[in-house]
Amino acid sequence: MRPGANVTSGLAYEEPLIFELSRPGRVGYSLPASDVPAVDPAEVLGADHVRSDDPVLPELSEVDVVRHFTRLSTWNAAVDLGLYPLGSCTMKYNPRVNEKLARLPGFAGGHPLQPAALSQGFLELMVELENQLAEVSGMDRVSLQPAAGAQGELAGIMMIRAYHEQRGEHRSVVLVPDSAHGTNPASAALNSYDVETIPSGDDGILHPDAVSRAMTPEVAGIMLTNPNTLGLFEEHVARICEIVHAKGGLVYGDGANLNALMGIARPGDLGIDVMHFNLHKTFSTPHGGGGPGSGPVGVKNLLAPFLPVPMVRRLADSEGGGFGLDYEFPHSIGRLHGNFGNVGMFVRAFAYLRSLGPNGLRRCSEMAVLNANYLLARLRDVYHVAYDRPVMHECVLSDRNLEPTGITTMDVAKRLIDYGYHPPTIYFPLIVHGAIMIEPTESESLEGLDRFVETLRAIEREAREEPQLVRDAPHRTPHSRLDETRAARHPVLRWQPD
Ligand SMILES: *Cc1c(COP(=O)(O)O)cnc(C)c1O
Repeated sequence: MRPGANVTSGLAYEEPLIFELSRPGRVGYSLPASDVPAVDPAEVLGADHVRSDDPVLPELSEVDVVRHFTRLSTWNAAVDLGLYPLGSCTMKYNPRVNEKLARLPGFAGGHPLQPAALSQGFLELMVELENQLAEVSGMDRVSLQPAAGAQGELAGIMMIRAYHEQRGEHRSVVLVPDSAHGTNPASAALNSYDVETIPSGDDGILHPDAVSRAMTPEVAGIMLTNPNTLGLFEEHVARICEIVHAKGGLVYGDGANLNALMGIARPGDLGIDVMHFNLHKTFSTPHGGGGPGSGPVGVKNLLAPFLPVPMVRRLADSEGGGFGLDYEFPHSIGRLHGNFGNVGMFVRAFAYLRSLGPNGLRRCSEMAVLNANYLLARLRDVYHVAYDRPVMHECVLSDRNLEPTGITTMDVAKRLIDYGYHPPTIYFPLIVHGAIMIEPTESESLEGLDRFVETLRAIEREAREEPQLVRDAPHRTPHSRLDETRAARHPVLRWQPD
């Protein structure tokens, strides 16, 4: 093992290109002899379309291909290898039983176009999952179609727009707090709304008077994230909903942080009219390169006529019983997905909800909140805390205390990689300069949290005593630090937490 070996996996980061492993004549396949006559491609396609030289491809045996890619796969950061504290993204452990159930042949082998009569079990699972999500969130109806949180938001804002239009109102503005995830203003803008940013108070949360001031008859609605991206509970949410409703607006709830509330508070009870869920965050679907995601959207009854079609419905006995697809939503915003959505995620979420039950869900949220507060309590004497109050499921530190050392949030994040950790979300939310946003999730043990705390404290010491070590990190990866200042200026490479 060379010095640059990965400390978590114990594997050396040395791997030749697959072309370097190639040996002429070696093959990794054995095809049966052809039993049809050979055809000259030039005759069929025309000589112009046939290349004269053979493509240069690596030649390897099957086992060498498998080993090459398996070795490369071990270089990935993964929640199965260690803490993955990516704030707002809820990278938590995904129980294996959910994976097993999603792979049951009846689910995994089903075709989206097979007739409803042959998909009854699956349609029933969808209806039950919708009901369970509605129950957890206090919504009346849920559509599972959106394939990501961002698409759930898009669907929600489309329904808000359709609602106002159907009432003959042309409202042009959506209010979005300054701590919001970038997808919020994007979803509003994609619906051709103007976005008006509402500043958070000095305590990091939204205040009713700021909303009152902005709440004109032009405003279609507000998008709230609760707990917000600082990990703080929006204490005035009920009052803010009243203010918005009184002026005819609707309230969109960004439910990405629902794992802090399950079994404790329901967005629907707080006044939210429409929200999305991130099954790939809260309900334990693997994500972050492991996709796909799933972002169901839930609504109160007043928005139900606008839901995407088809909806799945339990059929009355007079209709033949069982489960069927319902297209009878004359004001529907239409389809958001070619088929039902990302169905493997539904099975996982269903299994997760059923295996935990109401008490288990509540306990998840309690543990997520406890873990985040534990980290905060053990780190706040060395790292600056932007809004120093009890948090929900995540906490936001910053690099302010490191200023005399010249070490920045980026350096701390890179140095964490040397210790075997995936870095937290950094430089988000935008209202905290040099933000380090940590979400431990409920799945970490006390010992695991302590190790992470000791690592962050060690990096703070290094920043004071050996700053160059931190500035040049990472030292233990196949590639040293990239020039991210260039990437940060690049319009496409500009990064947002997922
Ligand atoms: C993750 C996230 C989203 C978007 O969800 P995707 O599934 O990544 O599209 C929106 N809002 C917040 C607060 C999030 O954390």
